[in-house]
Amino acid sequence: MDYENFFGSELQSVRDEGRYRVFAEIERKAGNFPQATRYVDGETSNVTVWCSNDYLGMGQHPKVLQAMHTVIDECGAGAGGTRNISGTNHHHVLLETELADLHNKEDALLFTSGYVSNWAALGTLAARIPNCMVLSDALNHASMIEGIRYSQADRMIFEHNSPEDLDRKLATLDPDRPKLVAFESVYSMDGDIAPIAEILDVCEAHNAMSYIDEVHGVGLYGPRGGGVAEREGLMDRITVIEGTLGKAFGVMGGYIAASKNLCDYVRTFASGFIFTTALPPAVAAGACASIRHLKESSAERERQQDRVEKVRSALDRMGIPHLPNPSHIIPVMVGDAHKCKFISDWLMENHGIYVQPINYPTVPRGTERLRLTPSPVHSDGDIDRLLSALSEIWSHCELARRDIAA
Ligand SMILES: *Cc1c(COP(=O)(O)O)cnc(C)c1O
Repeated sequence: MDYENFFGSELQSVRDEGRYRVFAEIERKAGNFPQATRYVDGETSNVTVWCSNDYLGMGQHPKVLQAMHTVIDECGAGAGGTRNISGTNHHHVLLETELADLHNKEDALLFTSGYVSNWAALGTLAARIPNCMVLSDALNHASMIEGIRYSQADRMIFEHNSPEDLDRKLATLDPDRPKLVAFESVYSMDGDIAPIAEILDVCEAHNAMSYIDEVHGVGLYGPRGGGVAEREGLMDRITVIEGTLGKAFGVMGGYIAASKNLCDYVRTFASGFIFTTALPPAVAAGACASIRHLKESSAERERQQDRVEKVRSALDRMGIPHLPNPSHIIPVMVGDAHKCKFISDWLMENHGIYVQPINYPTVPRGTERLRLTPSPVHSDGDIDRLLSALSEIWSHCELARRDIAA
């Protein structure tokens, strides 16, 4: 085989489809986010970031930065080992205690990322519980799918957000068979929210374990930022709550919160938990400070909701199509990979507005989009500039507008 030729031609076909990934090289400015410096061939320019998952700007919060500085000075750079061999720092334990409290669970277990937490926890549970059947929502995140696949357990895919289909599928199974139902609260690309209570009703009726990915919910929903399940008073009915420290909490890491025995089981048997260096203690301390702050302060959540509303109503006034949903995510629909990339490039080059195009395979073909994530740190001026630029490019590209009178 001509390996080089193979790589090259595979990449060319991705380019031809208009979905070759180009990463924007930026330098986020602490204290000035969402403003950032963009680098292109040694030249720099200023951009406003509109597609970050640092949803609340906690990545630059003074309390978070202070905690990280302090712990770097106290503990040094790295953890120095895996959790098993000298790497369990006091700050990891404090963070796990904080996370258990956030979700009102007996215990929590920290991983190096949300991806790893899903992969390791689902993979371990599904592989090791004898004859376990996994029921997975059709739109689950890649990290959950990979964990389930790795487990080699039997699996059924239920229709997205459909407790009815889940119920039908569970009803076909032996009542004594162990079952694990995996789903998300907020789905990150469409911004829709699962009917959590109804799904839990079905799980309980069939004695199935429930596993929820609250990655796009934690920090953002609920009076203490415990997620959508906290807002709806459902946390105690869920077997495993999984979340990230890298999005609304603004730092890095992932976790599960569950019973003492379940966490201990995953701690004991998950390869992805044990055979990797623990997070730097300063990262754990930063995440801990972020969680503590958002447990007590709703100001960031309220201002975010306000910014989201402002962007949505302006899009509506201009007739720019976006997917309606009950969350903080605004998918502006383009429906074509080449156009999506073109608009994204144009916004960057002409207006210093950075919105990454979202193409296949992240979303289905024909639903290519710009995913806007307004945050408390976007000013009225930022919003006005975004909307007038979008309006201009929509006219320029002759993209359909919604009937404004309707
Ligand atoms: C981003 C994401 C993850 C992974 O979390 P990281 O901490 O970024 O690794 C898991 N689930 C969903 C739904 C996500 O969007």
